[in-house]
Amino acid sequence: ATPMSIMVGVGRGAQLGVLIKNAEALERMEKVDTVVVDKTGTLTEGRPAVVAVETAEGTGLSPANLLRLAAAVENASEHPLARAIVEGAKEGRFAAYDARLPEVSDFDAPAGKGVVGTVEGHSVAIGTAGFLNDRGIDATDLDAEADELRRTGATAVLVAVDGTLAGVVGIADQVKESTPAALAALREEGIEVIMLTGDNAVTAGAVAARLGIDRVEAEVLPAHKADVVNRLRAEGRVVAFAGDGVNDAPALAAADVGLAMGTGTDVAIESAGVTLLRGDLTGIASAHRLSHAVMGNIR
Ligand code: ADP
Ligand code: MG
Repeated sequence: ATPMSIMVGVGRGAQLGVLIKNAEALERMEKVDTVVVDKTGTLTEGRPAVVAVETAEGTGLSPANLLRLAAAVENASEHPLARAIVEGAKEGRFAAYDARLPEVSDFDAPAGKGVVGTVEGHSVAIGTAGFLNDRGIDATDLDAEADELRRTGATAVLVAVDGTLAGVVGIADQVKESTPAALAALREEGIEVIMLTGDNAVTAGAVAARLGIDRVEAEVLPAHKADVVNRLRAEGRVVAFAGDGVNDAPALAAADVGLAMGTGTDVAIESAGVTLLRGDLTGIASAHRLSHAVMGNIR
């Protein structure tokens, strides 16, 4: 491509809401045959909300009180799930009578797993079943309830109090209105779409099935998201990765083309060659077509 055609391409991209940061990204986009997409905040709105709270037998905690304890710890986290839990404890049908959140101490938040802290003298751990297992807590008592939530596409967040499983919080995030059409456009261009998420395999599978996505890489820790991208590249694929979160930054940098959601975090935007200003995936197929045009291979 000539510098002139690239300049025109970048300008055209801007009109389409596709902000192209470097010429290589525009050039490589033409060869992309695989688009790996993060689930939360990329396929979905990224505004998760609490849809269910269930307590384990014998805890003596009401759903509202369980959520209040969990929210007190999550108040110290920036994670979208944490924000959903804090909001859920303050308003809506699971809100506690007194929505002021107690102080948390001994807070820790291992990435992609959950959070832990001490509230009102109780140790509270919130996160995946694996996270609780790591802490010697058995989460099988609520397996049926958690899986029922997951099959609806919700994230099941487990809560333990003082080393015992106390409940499960169902958190759902809407698929973006633009997502189905964006995926259809990619398929039309002959591009395979793969979902990559830290979330549970059942939850991820339910969302993927709804969107007609056949291939899902679930329960991938943030530190391993870039490994998945590199593995696909080693298979000879030309890979674009679309994501929004802090934990997506390494995968955005590892991909042949990194596509950040304009609605996402600054770290994601800085790590990507392309920003989708409208925060939806429609821009990916546009960028692919644009790249063909710029490279002189208009079909
Ligand atoms: P994603 O790939 O959707 O961005 P993450 O890698 O951030 O997900 O997290 C993976 C999983 O870890 C979540 O689905 C959730 O079960 C658990 N988790 C992470 N952070 C938190 C948190 N602050 N509170 C509860 N659970 C969490
Ligand atoms: Mg995300």
